[in-house]
Amino acid sequence: MMNIPQVVADQRKFAKSKPLQSHQARIEILTKLKNVIKDSSDEIESALKKDLGKGSFETYISEIDYVINEIDHISHKLSKWMKPKRVSSSLAFFPAKSFIHSEPFGTILVIAPWNYPFQLLFAPIVGALAAGNTIIAKPSEISGETSKVVAKIVNENFDPRLLKVIEGAVPETTELLEQRFDYIFYTGSGNVGKIILEKAAKNLTPVTLELGGKSPCAVYTDEIDLSAKRIVWGKYFNAGQTCVAPDYVIMPEEKIEEFVLSCKKWIEKFYGENTQQSGDYGRIINENHFERLESYLGECEVLVGGETDKASLYISPTIVRSSIDSKVMQEEIFGPILPIISLNNLDEAIELIIDRDKPLAAYAFLDSVNQKENYIESVSAGGMVINDTIIHLSNEKLPFGGVGQSGMGAYHGKHSFDLFSHRKSVMKRSFSLENNLRYPPYENKLWLIRKILKIFG
Ligand code: NAD
Repeated sequence: MMNIPQVVADQRKFAKSKPLQSHQARIEILTKLKNVIKDSSDEIESALKKDLGKGSFETYISEIDYVINEIDHISHKLSKWMKPKRVSSSLAFFPAKSFIHSEPFGTILVIAPWNYPFQLLFAPIVGALAAGNTIIAKPSEISGETSKVVAKIVNENFDPRLLKVIEGAVPETTELLEQRFDYIFYTGSGNVGKIILEKAAKNLTPVTLELGGKSPCAVYTDEIDLSAKRIVWGKYFNAGQTCVAPDYVIMPEEKIEEFVLSCKKWIEKFYGENTQQSGDYGRIINENHFERLESYLGECEVLVGGETDKASLYISPTIVRSSIDSKVMQEEIFGPILPIISLNNLDEAIELIIDRDKPLAAYAFLDSVNQKENYIESVSAGGMVINDTIIHLSNEKLPFGGVGQSGMGAYHGKHSFDLFSHRKSVMKRSFSLENNLRYPPYENKLWLIRKILKIFG
């Protein structure tokens, strides 16, 4: 049985010695991580196949290569980001120099979910190491094979005082949350997010919550076929178990038939006539989620798919017609079922979207510039893509995170470095030129201070 308090205490003690203070130390550990991942890529791929039935292509672009690209991008820019940034100083304190120093928080707890069990554990690890922190990472027990592999590759290759993976479920996570960390980075459901926030409050630990929700997709375009193609890809990637997957489509009644026919065509083109035989189509993570998803099918009119096979945890790419009050529209679907809601125009669609919790992603397929601007201005969401789905994640220059019920805080690339760094204000003064204006007695000084502030403020 792992002594969790001891592991955390050892890391916290080590973090105080600033083991990753230098640029060189950070590049060394990031390079080592990259090599370890590359050397273990077959093992990682086979674990993801067992957990989620992921095919090689999806595994590489959304898990392994994704993390390697993040390491490369961050390593390339790190020395620039680490440099203290000079900012101007008030003339009232001349001569003085002001800087913003990015310093590590200390020891960070990363808690990951099961749907991209590799990427969502390692992308925050990369950012947190780049910012000079030590890390304890807790993979999801639900993706058990990947959890085992990441624990092995990390714990066999890294000093546990710098980077340690602790496997486990609720009891282990609860024990971890009893310890004091300098930052907690959590990805998963909002219900657990509330527990994390509550536990973090005890020690005033800052928290990032990467949560989920229902990401809408409004389709008010004449480009139905290309829209259907891009929606089918974003929806059925990882069998719909993607936090930013388009959760439901809203479109005018008269376009539904054309859209459904196009979706059907693209599903067949992507996965063949028998999706169950396709090596590119994933499986549902476990029986609980399979039963949850299957229960939606009973209450909707199935337009495409709807086939299920519990033995292999297979649910075919499915499209249903749904009403706003149905169960499938109350919860995040997180699986390969796409409900279509019929609403006449974009304004009605926007009204529906903004009446609900702010989504992690909001998509819209639109033709006119005015419509696009209207959607961008009206809808608040973690992120947004116009005329495509889920691809905003691949641009490391864009911050990735939620807003409101879909989360707080954002990461990826430079945004990760900033997230995992405390921005420390540093002002340097010299002993020359002493100005006595700020010292008591203050009599007759206020007007002068106001004048100076007005001129130079
Ligand atoms: P989850 O909340 O069940 O589990 C996530 C992590 O929390 C796991 O490591 C788990 O062990 C731990 N955990 C579970 N119950 C706990 C408890 N009671 N106390 C402490 N820790 C606990 O989430 P999930 O089912 O793994 O993930 C699905 C959700 O995550 C969806 O809502 C999805 O949209 C969201 N998600 C968000 C992102 C994002 O980047 N914003 C990415 C992936 C998934």
